[in-house]
Amino acid sequence: MLRMLKPNAITLHKTRPQVGQEIQACIGCNECLLACPAVAEPITIDMLNRETLTGPISEPVARFTRACYQCGACVAPCPVGLHRDAMMLWLKVRLLSSMEEM
Ligand code: SF4
Ligand code: SF4
Repeated sequence: MLRMLKPNAITLHKTRPQVGQEIQACIGCNECLLACPAVAEPITIDMLNRETLTGPISEPVARFTRACYQCGACVAPCPVGLHRDAMMLWLKVRLLSSMEEM
């Protein structure tokens, strides 16, 4: 199964501190969301960044998190080389964890 992954798919899996560093480095330009085919309602980078690692997850961010299918289209447009797909993966993990706690 691993043999079938594209090489850049391996880099999706960043540690929590790495994702935190990426969020700190984000300049909020919105290019990743403009390139994303899964955005179905207004959502801001501020909301996404704030909710990726801590605090409650709002309904719009939860819906977007479920809709993200890890296509990676958000990575190339980022002017500072960040990985929104990896950030979204962490949001997926947080969302699943919060559902288990309910
Ligand atoms: S990986 Fe997720 S957030 Fe990035 S472009 Fe694809 S669907 Fe959108
Ligand atoms: S494209 Fe990069 S810098 Fe711009 S908002 Fe997205 S993650 Fe942040």
